[in-house]
Amino acid sequence: MWTTVTHRFERVPLTAKKAVECEGCGKKLRRQRTFEQTINPWNKTADGEVKTYKHIYPELEAKAAAWKAEPEVCRDCEGGTDDTGHGFAGSL
Ligand SMILES: [Zn+2]
Repeated sequence: MWTTVTHRFERVPLTAKKAVECEGCGKKLRRQRTFEQTINPWNKTADGEVKTYKHIYPELEAKAAAWKAEPEVCRDCEGGTDDTGHGFAGSL
């Protein structure tokens, strides 16, 4: 039975994982990220319908797919956007 009592909004999480190579040095990286939406009266589709799992899940999957396609860099390479950052690497 439906009641008007406000519950905590139900969360719809999707945890995505990926294993990619660092763009900078080729090191293997594992990344994990959780995409989430809640089912609530304000989370609506373009048609004004309150979203359910059926709406939310494909959206989360699309976001996860986009994230998986993004290149990653390891921590060592992350700080090296500055041109001077790698200047000493070759002086062994
Ligand atoms: Zn790297």
